[in-house]
Amino acid sequence: MEPLDRATIWPYRGAEPGELYYQRYAHPNALSAERQLGELEGGEALLFPSGTGAATALVLGLLEPGRTIALAAGAYYGTSVLFAALERWGLRYVEFDQKGAPPDGVDLIWLEAPSNPFLEMPDLQSAVAHRARVLVDSTASTPVYLRPLEWGADFVLHSATKFLGGHHDVLLGAVVCKSAEDAARLHEFRGRSGIVPAPDPCWLLSRSLKTLRVRMERHTQTATEIAERLRAHPAVQVVRYPGFGGLLSFDVADGDAARRVETSLRAIANATSLGGVHSVLESRTRWEGDRVPPGLLRLSVGLEDVEELWADLEQALSA
Ligand code: PLP
Repeated sequence: MEPLDRATIWPYRGAEPGELYYQRYAHPNALSAERQLGELEGGEALLFPSGTGAATALVLGLLEPGRTIALAAGAYYGTSVLFAALERWGLRYVEFDQKGAPPDGVDLIWLEAPSNPFLEMPDLQSAVAHRARVLVDSTASTPVYLRPLEWGADFVLHSATKFLGGHHDVLLGAVVCKSAEDAARLHEFRGRSGIVPAPDPCWLLSRSLKTLRVRMERHTQTATEIAERLRAHPAVQVVRYPGFGGLLSFDVADGDAARRVETSLRAIANATSLGGVHSVLESRTRWEGDRVPPGLLRLSVGLEDVEELWADLEQALSA
């Protein structure tokens, strides 16, 4: 395991700066985690202090004012909130159904595979046939289940806070670029803007990437079983699960029923976020309002025993 290096400066050699000279431009723990993630995705990875920081850096660093993003409707709520905040700087965005072809006249297509919390997969083939460049937020798929650059996408974005970090103890984001030129422009903008990741979370991410595949396989195994049992439960109206990964959502009758589930859980944490070893569940209407059904509960299935999780869900659903 590589050591954690918190140095902010490294001496010049023969009065010349080397690859490492000031932490804002590069540091060993980011370089190491970026190398691993780049190999997993088949591109050049750059880390940022959060998934949202990664999105901000990509938009400000690689787009011009007046450009339009076609954003997958039903994608992570915070992404549309971010784009709305950047409208003041001349960014435009329109939402579209990612299961079909993107609209004409846009400059960047922003897909989410699968969308959070609707769990819909994008039509990647239609998107890459469009003249605009394509980004896939692959947070919930991870490179274990999808490698968007191989499908012709230009960028992959991750909230590494989720499955890549995997333990609810890392806040990080990543952009993986297909072209070295995009990676160089984004790297330059990252250093200039200071939207840079600290060494400690990068070290934790390096550790986590080593177990990514086994964690994802176990998340999938347990979530598949839980989705099946939820589908057969009389208090559950709809279950959304793409068939892989640890993220699913399901609907109970209304907001009151959702609240009863939230307050009755014993083993599963009633908390936000997703992708960790510990299962978490929350009603999304508290954050997303009318965009989601009032009874929608998002469940991130962790690595616990499936029977323990099901026993908790069953007692919470009948509370
Ligand atoms: N993308 C997706 C799909 C997410 O679920 C999230 C966070 O929930 C983000 C991006 C933003 O990531 P972060 O919370 O690391 O800023």
